[in-house]
Amino acid sequence: MSKVGMNMETVRYQNRALILDYINSKGPVSRTDIAAASGLTAASVTLITTRLLAEGILKETGTTVGKGAGRRRVLLDIDASAAYVIAVNIEPKDTVVAICDLKGRVLEGPGSEPLMRSMDTDKRSAPEAFLAHLCNECKELQSKLSNAQKKRLECVSIGISGLVDVQNAVSVHAYGIWDRPVDLKAIFSSRLGLPVIAENNVDAFSTAEQMYGVGRIRNDLLIIKWGPGVGSTVIIDGIIYKGRQGKAAELGHYIIDPAGKKCNCGRRGCLETFVSYSALNEIMPFAPDEFESAYLAADPQTRAKVDSAIELFARCIVNTGTLIAPSRTILAGKLFKGPLIREKLINVCSALDGTYNAESVIYTPLSDRESYVGPAAIFARKKLLEDTLAED
Ligand SMILES: [Zn+2]
Repeated sequence: MSKVGMNMETVRYQNRALILDYINSKGPVSRTDIAAASGLTAASVTLITTRLLAEGILKETGTTVGKGAGRRRVLLDIDASAAYVIAVNIEPKDTVVAICDLKGRVLEGPGSEPLMRSMDTDKRSAPEAFLAHLCNECKELQSKLSNAQKKRLECVSIGISGLVDVQNAVSVHAYGIWDRPVDLKAIFSSRLGLPVIAENNVDAFSTAEQMYGVGRIRNDLLIIKWGPGVGSTVIIDGIIYKGRQGKAAELGHYIIDPAGKKCNCGRRGCLETFVSYSALNEIMPFAPDEFESAYLAADPQTRAKVDSAIELFARCIVNTGTLIAPSRTILAGKLFKGPLIREKLINVCSALDGTYNAESVIYTPLSDRESYVGPAAIFARKKLLEDTLAED
């Protein structure tokens, strides 16, 4: 292909992604809104949206009265049912499988039951055996789709803890789950016959935050997931910062005590060895969903120990904020579920630095979908913002 042709195509692709990105965050919107926000000409907007309507990625959702002459404008939105994905999220404690639409919502089966399964992550069997079991769960859910829905099922998207080779969909090192690389693509594609993509689970969740949550309006974010370990993601100018070998933003592995306990990562005394689910369970036994009630029921000495863990955590958050100055810090994960626990953390942050408050540190708006929305969002981003060039 000539260089000129390449450039034309790149521009066309970028304009298309620009439009879809805008509709995804603001939709439903009119073509006039799109032109005004994107700076594209009305003619380009019409051309691109007509094509997206024909492909079924956009749909018309009604009309609105425009300013002035009372002309009606057609409103456009993403057609969430344009494509479906099997979202798989594998974390040290729990694994969830769900069939989702392009807005990261779970589909319903014939009896209106959500097409979703949760199970304990089996860390004792060989990874291949557990993943084969997972594939059977996926097939079971798949069998509940109508024929029309089955045709729109396009991909298996996997979120998993630890280091992921995104290019090849290989789990390089899922800390706390497996101690060797696992070829997710080979296992899932041979059994399910669909393309397979994979991403680190916290980065996947952060992508969901960009596609469906706070990231739709804020470009610089620090996202922290608490439970079972501590995961974090830094988003700068709307892009997840990965660093060398995807190892950036490991807030959970700030070294607190070089002579401390051995951490999953191989070093000693990381923040995680003080605040992970298992570290806190040694101070105070609790189920992941009941951290706050266990804290409230604990005796004063136990609470004081938990308080010092929260203080350490808050200090690490504020220090990270000093480096990257996020416009918002977003809290996610089961241990942040309790409002009182969040308030405690925010209070410590704000005692350390007055710019921290309940507006700058917020709880994720996606909390009820946390267990599967990440991998669903990775697929939606690919489908809407990255993968569309080939279809032209
Ligand atoms: Zn560590």
